[in-house]
Amino acid sequence: MTAHRLPDDACPFCGHVCNAASTLDGDTAPPEEGDASVCLECGSLVIYGPGLRLRRPTRRQTRELCAYPEVAAVLKAVGDFKRTPRV
Ligand SMILES: [Zn+2]
Repeated sequence: MTAHRLPDDACPFCGHVCNAASTLDGDTAPPEEGDASVCLECGSLVIYGPGLRLRRPTRRQTRELCAYPEVAAVLKAVGDFKRTPRV
């Protein structure tokens, strides 16, 4: 997995500072405008806008992206992780 350092930006849902991105599929390219990501703090689906600024997806984008099993699996995995009690 390759991680890319990005300028600090706030999640449009929870305000968490997001400054890195990585993929689960081995793709080593950095994110581009229009790519989707998931905030690891709140588990929300976000989109890289101009300048790689994070924005909320449209309802249509959310519907279309969640139709991909890989996206649904990542959202579920992050949600499950967030609900796991910490020791
Ligand atoms: Zn968030």
